Amino acid sequence: MIHAGVQMTNWGLVDLLSIRRGIWSSRMNRLRGMGLKLCIFIPVVFLSVAAFGGTSSILEMSPPISGLTLANLRDTFEEFHNGHRHEAIDIMEPSGTPVRAVVPGTIQKLFFSVPGGNTIYQFDEVGEYCYYYAHLERYAEGLHEEMSVQPGDIIGFVGSTGNADERAPHLHFAIFALGPEKRWSRGMAVNPYPGLVAAVKRVK
Ligand SMILES: [Zn+2]
Repeated sequence: MIHAGVQMTNWGLVDLLSIRRGIWSSRMNRLRGMGLKLCIFIPVVFLSVAAFGGTSSILEMSPPISGLTLANLRDTFEEFHNGHRHEAIDIMEPSGTPVRAVVPGTIQKLFFSVPGGNTIYQFDEVGEYCYYYAHLERYAEGLHEEMSVQPGDIIGFVGSTGNADERAPHLHFAIFALGPEKRWSRGMAVNPYPGLVAAVKRVK
């Protein structure tokens, strides 16, 4: 469900919000009826929230780069890069462009990896999704693990550390569904493209 949810088009995301509002208003109506209906309805609400609630922080994302436009976004999630599925979106920007937190949450891990260079793993507030920013030239001054961040906070700067081409600095941006273990190094990649498109459209 998580995968299906976030791979929806922008209209799909809008529909999802309407569905969630619909679930809530129908819950209020039905509570007035009480009785047997409640026995059926509560599990239905629970399952619906479990299914749709998974997309919560992705639906609220703000763009990781100020002034991002749809022309800057290309869905390369399924492409093969360096022999493996990319599972991320590359946003081409000049070195030194500020990178901003996309959702409220916590800086979970600052990690240097050979492919990713300087990277940030940010959890959302409920630890459902991890937002990953890679190839950073450097971190924002004072950034540290377990630090709380808000959307729009500058957390680092675009670069080409790791295996990025120096002539093509970019932000490699990924989202991972964390699962019950909630470990920064383990997660299922979710396509960030629909969420980024929705984020850009919301800013306009
Ligand atoms: Zn990439």
